[in-house]
Parts: sequence; structure tokens; C-alpha cells
Amino acid sequence: MSNIVAIVGRPNVGKSTLYNRLTESRKAIVDDFSGVTRDRHYGVAEWTDHPFTVIDTGGYVANSDDVFEAAIREQVVIAVEEASIILFVVDVTTGITDLDDEIAVLLRRSKKPVFVVVNKVDNHNQQADATVFYGFGLGEIYNISSMTGSGTGELLDEVVKHFEDVPLEDSTRPKYAIVGRPNVGKSSIINSLIGSQRNIVTPVAGTTRDSIHIHYNQYGHDFMLIDTAGMRKKTKVKENIEFYSVMRTIKALEEADVIILMIDAVEGFEAQDMNIFHLAEKNKKGIVIVVNKWDLIEKNNKTIKVFEEMIREKTAPFTDVPIVFTSVTEKQRVLKVIDVANQVYANRARKITTSKLNDVMLPIIENYPPPSLKGKYVKIKYITQIAGSSPMFAFFCNLPQYIKEPYYRFIENKLRENFELSGAPVQVWFRQK
Ligand code: GDP
Ligand code: GDP
Repeated sequence: MSNIVAIVGRPNVGKSTLYNRLTESRKAIVDDFSGVTRDRHYGVAEWTDHPFTVIDTGGYVANSDDVFEAAIREQVVIAVEEASIILFVVDVTTGITDLDDEIAVLLRRSKKPVFVVVNKVDNHNQQADATVFYGFGLGEIYNISSMTGSGTGELLDEVVKHFEDVPLEDSTRPKYAIVGRPNVGKSSIINSLIGSQRNIVTPVAGTTRDSIHIHYNQYGHDFMLIDTAGMRKKTKVKENIEFYSVMRTIKALEEADVIILMIDAVEGFEAQDMNIFHLAEKNKKGIVIVVNKWDLIEKNNKTIKVFEEMIREKTAPFTDVPIVFTSVTEKQRVLKVIDVANQVYANRARKITTSKLNDVMLPIIENYPPPSLKGKYVKIKYITQIAGSSPMFAFFCNLPQYIKEPYYRFIENKLRENFELSGAPVQVWFRQK
């Protein structure tokens, strides 16, 4: 379970520069070739072994017109409600502006930790200018330069002290979160599953409950559904619908065992879907992709294959995620989604014995050993699964540092081919023996 850190502040103070600095070290290779990085406003970062999710609120408002300031104020309110920690970024070169003051008023009401982050303190002389920001009455100020990175370490040292270990509640039942962009059909599928039960299980509006948990117990299935769809009415500014939905999604994603990522067949698998996919992957969750509104697609006998390939290309190298094509309105394959989620849940919990792993994997490795490097040969001796909430495998060998990325992928693919792990995150480690 990780914590959510929201970066708020008016435009041009350096929020996205700070965001990039916080997340850069963990940027997955896959992000580079897909052109996703451009509109990525949330991601996983890590500081001294504390993983956390960062969200840059600046990504959610177009730099224009008069709804603008209202949208920023609303973002601050949403961030205060939804995030665990707020970084309030201001700009030392401009001092305190009216909008800064308005944001500070909202933040003073927050019960969550708020850090005043004075950015663009690029040199020593500017330290003195930064002291005006004590005027917010929000406590300590943290002088940083997002450009150079100076001060960010000290800031993060303090931030991680405020992290909470969110306990896993009700860990006996599988927890599934249905996530996706607005309008893909999340509420519809939940309604279709829960039917009239919904009114009984949905807590009233304004509840402090982080997300709505629905207990589903029918047709031999017993699990919790985490609903992110319910809350959208709360945003007054249209630009924030997506921001709000992302915040909800991140939280649901952290609570669930399996993520049911729903996309709209007409719109396809977009950058935002990709972001959610990566976040689920980085959080080691099981994943099921649901392509909904299948009724709206003109089909022939190749359509499913084409769609699947399009998605697999984007989600590589994690290519065995189950994909279910549904039409909620036509009641097609709705229960199949749950069957597949159950399967992925089982795959994520799968335990493979050491003898079975070695029987299957050692001959494969013998046929295709790691390429030699600088004249040295890696000898893999044995393999064992490591205890954990998702499948992790240790390959014991003489020179683990000589194994390169492509071989990790090869091994992961072979594990997926030979054992039932579809939809489950798989981690492979090479260790010294
Ligand atoms: P946002 O609108 O709050 O996300 O701000 P950006 O991250 O886009 O930054 C706005 C401008 O400030 C850009 O031109 C950045 O290069 C610049 N900037 C960001 N951080 C720093 C910094 O630490 N020092 C200086 N001098 N400029 C910075
Ligand atoms: P949410 O925002 O993800 O919760 O999406 P909703 O469940 O509110 O659905 C958005 C719109 O898509 C509604 O008008 C639904 O009736 C419609 N919709 C949902 N599922 C389907 C489907 O399978 N086919 C078609 N044609 N429309 C759908």
C-alpha cells in the first residue's frame, strides 16, 4: 500500500518539473516508445525504500480562460480530500500572488500534512527571498530547485515521515476494482452485476469512506467490488472530472487485488488507459482488460484478433493479460469478466514448487542460456519461488549482474508459457549463489 502525494499550486511555479524529478528514476523503459510520457501526470516514485504515487494536478487544467482559477481551487479541495500528503508549490521569483493566498486559505483547513515547497531557489541568494512564504501560516517551508534537484532530498526525507501504512482491510475476500476513463461503462457493469442490491450497499454521499466497497455474493461468487464510478457529481468544473476520476482510480487500484481495466471499444486503448495499466503493473496487481461497448463495433471474423493485437502491442512485455469483450447494455459476457477476474486472482496467488520450477525451467535455460558477457558465462543452478502476495521467482546463479534486460523478458515469457500466470504480475530475480 502506498501513499498518494499531490502536487498543487498555480501555473508556472514548476509543478510538472518537480513531478518529473520525483518520478524520473522509476520511469519504465516502455513509456519511452509509446509516446505516453507527454500526458502522464501521475506515476510511482520512491524515496528511501518508500514507494508512493505522485500526482501533478497541473496536468488537468488547460492553461486558459476564466474557469481556470475556479478549477485550480477545486483541484486543491479534491487533493486535500483524496491525497495523503499535499505539496504546495510556490515560486520564489514572484513572491506570494493572490491565487497563492487563496490556495493557502483552502490548505489551512486541511487535516492532511501540507508542505510549502518554495521552488526556483536556484542559488543561495534566493534563500532570504523565500522567507516571505512563512506568511501563509502553514508551517515550515522547503526551498528547492526542481531544475537542479537541490533541496528535493531534504523535502522527501520529511514527506516520507508522514506516510502511513494503510492496513489491508478484509483480506479474506478477493477485492476487484473496476477502473477506467469516464463513460466507458463502469457504473453500468456494476449495476448489471449488483442490480437492485446496489441501493442497499452504497454508502450515502459525503461518507468519509475512501471508496465504495460492494460485497458481491451470488452465483457462487464471493468478492468485494471497489467502485470508482459513483462520485463524479461532486466536481463543479468540467476540467476536474478527469482529475477526480484519476485520484479515485489510484486509490481503488491500491486497495484491490485485481484491476479490471475497462476501455471503450470505440475509443480504443488510449494514453490514459496505458497509465492505469502501468500503475497497476507497478503496484503488482492482477489485471483484466475489458473492452466494453462491443455492440457498437462493426465486426468480422478478424476484429477480435486485430483488437487484441493492438492492445498487446501497447502492453508489451506483459502480453498475457486476459481481454474480455463485453457489451453491458446487451448483457454480453458480463459474468465472464468476474470468472476471468477470479482466475487472475488465483494466478496471482499461485505457488509453484521448487521441483516443478526446476524441472521445467532448467532445460529451457540449458537450451537458451544467458549470452556470455566479456567472456564470462552465467550458470543458473536452481530456481525457487519467493513468498509474497504476487509471483516472484529467484534464479540462483554465479554472476547475476551479467544478466541483461532481454533475458529477464525471455525468462518471464517462459514462466508465463509454462505455468498459469496469465494476468498476474511476475517478478524475476537473479541472485548470487
Ligand atoms: P507548472 O505549470 O507549475 O507545472 O510549471 P512547470 O513545471 O511547467 O514550470 C514552469 C517554468 O518554470 C518552466 O519554464 C520551467 O523550466 C521553470 N522552472 C521549473 N522549476 C524551476 C527551477 O527550479 N528553477 C528555475 N529557474 N526555473 C524552473
Ligand atoms: P462510467 O462513467 O464509466 O461509469 O460509464 P457509465 O456506466 O455511466 O456509461 C456511460 C454511457 O455508456 C451510458 O450512457 C451507458 O448506457 C453507455 N454504455 C455502457 N455500456 C455500454 C455498452 O456495452 N454498449 C453501449 N452501446 N453503451 C454502453
